[in-house]
Amino acid sequence: MLRLQNYIYFCKVKIAKWSYLEKEIIMKNDKFAETNVSYTTKEAIEEAKRCLNCKNPLCIQGCPIEHDIPAFVHQLSMGNIGAAMQIINEKSNLPAICGRVCPHEKQCEGHCILNKKDNPVKVGKLERFIADFDSDMVLIKERLKPKTRGKVAVIGSGPAGLTVAGDLAREGFNVVVFEGQKEPGGVLMYGIPEYRLPKEIVRREIKKIEALGVTFINDFLVGEKMTVDEMLAHEFDAVFIGSGTSVPKTLDIPGIKLYRVLQSSYFLRMVNLYNSGDISREAVPLMEGERVAIIGAGNVAMDAARTALRMGAKSVNVIYRGTEENLPALKTEYNEALEEGTNFMWESRTVECIGENNTLNSIRVETPNGEIIMPVERVFIAVGSKPANRIVSTSLGIEVNENGYVITKEHPYGMTTRKGVFAGGDVVHTPQTVVLAMREAKQVAKGIAQYVDAVKLLSE
Ligand SMILES: Cc1cc2nc3c(=O)[nH]c(=O)nc-3n(C[C@H](O)[C@H](O)[C@H](O)COP(=O)(O)OP(=O)(O)OC[C@H]3O[C@@H](n4cnc5c(N)ncnc54)[C@H](O)[C@@H]3O)c2cc1C
Repeated sequence: MLRLQNYIYFCKVKIAKWSYLEKEIIMKNDKFAETNVSYTTKEAIEEAKRCLNCKNPLCIQGCPIEHDIPAFVHQLSMGNIGAAMQIINEKSNLPAICGRVCPHEKQCEGHCILNKKDNPVKVGKLERFIADFDSDMVLIKERLKPKTRGKVAVIGSGPAGLTVAGDLAREGFNVVVFEGQKEPGGVLMYGIPEYRLPKEIVRREIKKIEALGVTFINDFLVGEKMTVDEMLAHEFDAVFIGSGTSVPKTLDIPGIKLYRVLQSSYFLRMVNLYNSGDISREAVPLMEGERVAIIGAGNVAMDAARTALRMGAKSVNVIYRGTEENLPALKTEYNEALEEGTNFMWESRTVECIGENNTLNSIRVETPNGEIIMPVERVFIAVGSKPANRIVSTSLGIEVNENGYVITKEHPYGMTTRKGVFAGGDVVHTPQTVVLAMREAKQVAKGIAQYVDAVKLLSE
């Protein structure tokens, strides 16, 4: 019997290896192929064996959701991928995503003791390997609890909404996610480019959450098709708002409304739709051979720059008022943008977009060496974003601060000024990161569970 099980496991590993190879062959023809290639099983196990299993593991302290990193890495080092996945599942609903897009250099890997030798254990890549292997092999099938504790509406299916949905479903809540876009995933699906986070990976992670018994209703804008008041009045015991920051900020300079001056978030969304086969190449707002200027230098700007180059831009200049030292983007993202051919203009300010017949043809930039006129065909703005007010303006009693961020309480954690309505993620805490939205959402899920249990107990 044991030999048969070993044989089946061996076959599964072989199939997994073939599927990785197959993926790589397809990806070689694709400009948007994932840049950071996964480990093979042998490489992953060898990397896991480098972990020193420290008595006081600093990597856990570096992880915002306090993953038990030494424990899952240890299981992997012994080839127990299913056991490793079970440990990961205790803390995260999105490991294949976190393994790819978390700022590991600042978190787990940045805290690893082996950093002293400039060679930390590659925790992100290991997490991603385990999660991908689990999806390929369908290693773990979770036992579902009956959905008897209450019914919760989740608005938005970014990392915050997905985390609340997954955690509450595991705890026996009936969860319905309402998403305004055609597909769930939020920024994971429509913002972060394919070459950093393949959309098939996002879809697979969401399928796992669906398998916990969560219902997804897409193309459903709350505030238009239904209000929070109606949700609470009809069937839901609580509502979670995880609607992110979908309104991009702009600049107050002449010419900002010219044709071909666009938001980076819009450009990235259109390219993701093009890559998914939803729109034609002509619908992407960048033609081959165009010269591009990007205003801002955060991670969104790096994504826009690298994506513009992949779409055939002749040149890409990132214009930033600060210095290289205080660049807001992650160092790894910056280095990759540089390597791929992005040019950076430091301590420079775009003061005007210039055009003819309402169409952009150049920009005026103040640089440390004086003012210049730079011919460009596109400007992509990347100076931040803020929450939309569609949900709060159509329902009673949900207060926001002066910048439109939803105000929440400590007890029960994450509740807004409206009873039974909770919020978390970027809509509360300004644009942050995937894992910080998840950390917050995990706590809010606990707050929602406490609130619904208490209300039900009192009404008995
Ligand atoms: C281009 C880009 C790249 C990024 N790269 C990284 C990275 O590499 N690593 C990292 O950690 N972080 C990154 N971030 C930040 C990270 O993606 C966000 O912090 C995170 O997605 C926030 O999660 P959220 O769930 O709060 O919101 P979102 O991901 O924004 O999700 C909100 C969801 O709510 C939906 N929604 C909004 N209003 C309504 C409504 N009225 N009705 C129904 N649905 C609604 C939206 O359609 C969306 O799906 C990046 C952000 C951007 C924009």
